[in-house]
Amino acid sequence: MLAVTVQGGQTAVQVPLPERKRGEALVRVKRVGICGTDLAMFDGYTDHTGVIGHEFAGVVEEADNDAWIGKRVTSSINFTPSDYPFDWKTAKHHPRRTALGIRGRDGTMAEYAVIPEDALIELPASVSDASGATVEPLAAAMDAVDRLPPGVGGDILVVGDGRIAQLVGRVLQQRHHRWAIVGRNRMKLSLAKRAGGRGEEEANIHKGKRFSRVIEATGSPEGIRLALNAVAPTGTVVLKSTLSEEVQLDLSRVVVHEIRLIGSRCGDLEKALEAMARGKIEVTDMITAVYPLARAAEAFEHARRPDAVKVQLEP
Ligand SMILES: [Zn+2]
Repeated sequence: MLAVTVQGGQTAVQVPLPERKRGEALVRVKRVGICGTDLAMFDGYTDHTGVIGHEFAGVVEEADNDAWIGKRVTSSINFTPSDYPFDWKTAKHHPRRTALGIRGRDGTMAEYAVIPEDALIELPASVSDASGATVEPLAAAMDAVDRLPPGVGGDILVVGDGRIAQLVGRVLQQRHHRWAIVGRNRMKLSLAKRAGGRGEEEANIHKGKRFSRVIEATGSPEGIRLALNAVAPTGTVVLKSTLSEEVQLDLSRVVVHEIRLIGSRCGDLEKALEAMARGKIEVTDMITAVYPLARAAEAFEHARRPDAVKVQLEP
C-alpha cells in the first residue's frame, strides 16, 4: 500500500499492509490531515521512522469486535501498552505510551492503518470525513482553552494564525469569549475575523499592550517570545507549539511578573466531536486543499506555504 514514512521523506512510498494484532482494528483511511507535528517529524521531533499521520477519518474493515466493522471512525492518538486498560487521559502521560504516527506506532497517512479498538470513536453521519479528520486537532485546541483560568476579564489573545490558532479561536467563539488574534498572514487573519476574532497589531504588544490570558499556537520560538511579551503581570500563557528545537526565553519576566506558563498537548476527542456534531463548531472552511495520497510531496509543500491552513490527503 501507499504510505508516507519519515524515512521515505515527504512522498508516498510502497510499504507492506499493517498487521492487525488482537484487540486492534484494520481501518481503511479516507481522509488524513497534515499538521505541525507531521512537519516536525521530518526535522527529528521524535525517533519514529515509520508511517506518520494521526488526524484521520476512516472505515473499519476488520476488527475482533464485529460491531465495529463498517463503522466510520477516528481515534485517540495516545495508547497505553496492551496490558493496561485504555484511557486517553492516562495514555497521554504513560511512560510506555505509543502515539499514532508519532512514537512507536505507525500512523494513518496510508491506505490502511491499525488502531486499538478501545481507542476508536465512531463518527456520526452529520460529521463528514473532512471534519472527522479534524476532530483530533479540535480536541487539542479545546484542551488549550480549558486550561485558561476562569473569571479573568479582558480579551483572550491568540498568538498565531495557523492551523491550531484558528481552531482555538473557534472554541473561544463557541464559548462566547471575546478574543483577539495576532498573526502575520492577511488571508489567515481574515479567516479568524470571520470566525469572530478581533485582529491585534503586533506593534501594540511591543508598545506595551498586555493580556491576562494568552494562548500561544505559532509553532515558532519567536511566537513563544511574543506570547511571553504580551502577557500581563500575574497572567497566564498556555503553550501549544511543539517544536523540534530548544527555545531560548527570558524567564526573569516570568518570575518578576509572576506569570503562569501552562503546557497543553492533546484533548478529549469525544467532547470535540460532540461540539462538531451539534454544528457548534465548523471546520471545513479551514481546509485549504485536498490531495490524493500519491501526491503527498505536493501536499506537504502546500502545507508549508504561509497562506495554507489545513491541507488534507485522500488515500
Ligand atoms: Zn496533529
